[in-house]
Amino acid sequence: MRQKLAAGNWKMNGTSEALSDLQELAAAHATSGVDVLICPPTPLLHRAAEIVAGSAVTVGGQDCHMASSGAHTGDTSAEMLRDAGASSVILGHSERRADHGESDATVCAKADTAIKAGLIAIVCLGESLAQREAGETLDIIGAQLAGSVPAGSAGDTLVIAYEPIWAIGTGKVPTLEQIGEVHGFLRAQLVARFGTGIGGAIRLLYGGSVKPGNAAEIFAVDDVDGALVGGASLKAADFSPIITALEAA
Ligand code: PEP
Repeated sequence: MRQKLAAGNWKMNGTSEALSDLQELAAAHATSGVDVLICPPTPLLHRAAEIVAGSAVTVGGQDCHMASSGAHTGDTSAEMLRDAGASSVILGHSERRADHGESDATVCAKADTAIKAGLIAIVCLGESLAQREAGETLDIIGAQLAGSVPAGSAGDTLVIAYEPIWAIGTGKVPTLEQIGEVHGFLRAQLVARFGTGIGGAIRLLYGGSVKPGNAAEIFAVDDVDGALVGGASLKAADFSPIITALEAA
């Protein structure tokens, strides 16, 4: 039985005052039947960790470097995230792949470093609209999965987030059949690579315009173990019903 996960990605949004929303979220979810994660901007991480302590909410990073330390001005190591209180880190988000030219190999190296530092690595992948319209979705997803997931992954330290690029921040959502097709494909690929034990235990999140109004139907799709949520994670009033929908799924 896979533990479900509701993960929020604040991206480059929020200064100190945003922490009041996190406080509200932690108070509303002192306990939960699912894992709840918020990934704030790095400067807020340590204070965020203190705010959620004792609740069902944990906090995470939005990226880390593939090296554990060294001359990498402006970067953050996995160990630093862990030290600041992170449980997890998002890696290979399409915005990082686009803005910073991150390749599958880079994402794979970062995931390996993050897991070795004691973090859960949430590896993102997803097709562009042009790729979907060209019928290439499963080829693209398969290649990203093969290239971005480190060898020796374990079921509890790796999470895959399927995030079609065209659905992120756009209000557009794939059909439930399209989500089910990709998640079923991902599960089959993971089982083929890691066996039923590990491949069957790795959690699969859907991400892309998940809102309180569509969360329940998405969570009912086979092999959807939760969501990675951008915009709707910024306000406790929006994220909280998504957590509740996941608990009920
Ligand atoms: C995301 O940032 O990963 C995301 C899915 O964003 P949104 O929920 O706003 O589409």
